[in-house]
Amino acid sequence: MRMSPARVWRARGSRYRLEASRCKDCGRTVYPPRPVCPYCRSRNVEIVELPRKGRVVTWTVQYTVPHGYRSKAPLILAIVELENGTRVFSELVDVEPEEIREGMEVEAVLRKVYEDGDEGVIVYATKFRPIKTG
Ligand SMILES: [Zn+2]
Repeated sequence: MRMSPARVWRARGSRYRLEASRCKDCGRTVYPPRPVCPYCRSRNVEIVELPRKGRVVTWTVQYTVPHGYRSKAPLILAIVELENGTRVFSELVDVEPEEIREGMEVEAVLRKVYEDGDEGVIVYATKFRPIKTG
């Protein structure tokens, strides 16, 4: 199987570090990173590494999740503001919906999303979990 350049670009490095693309023309930071700036269509973008810690800004709990993801219900999706001010949209894990508070400190973790039985491909994605204090 041949991967398109765009897919290779997306996969590069971003699995193990929390990376975003920063547009050198309009200055916006986008997560996950993209080879073309979605705001101004510039290709003049660079990869920047994001802080792994942030705070929950807002969140939504989805009790109805797509087929194949049922075992993960409910799905908690949140906007997390990282220490440098970048906002990312991601899933919260290791927390119950009623435990979530605005401003709650969270950290990025790598979690398995799914395993492709035929190809043996395991896909990981960055998610966020509460930082346990004490
Ligand atoms: Zn731009």
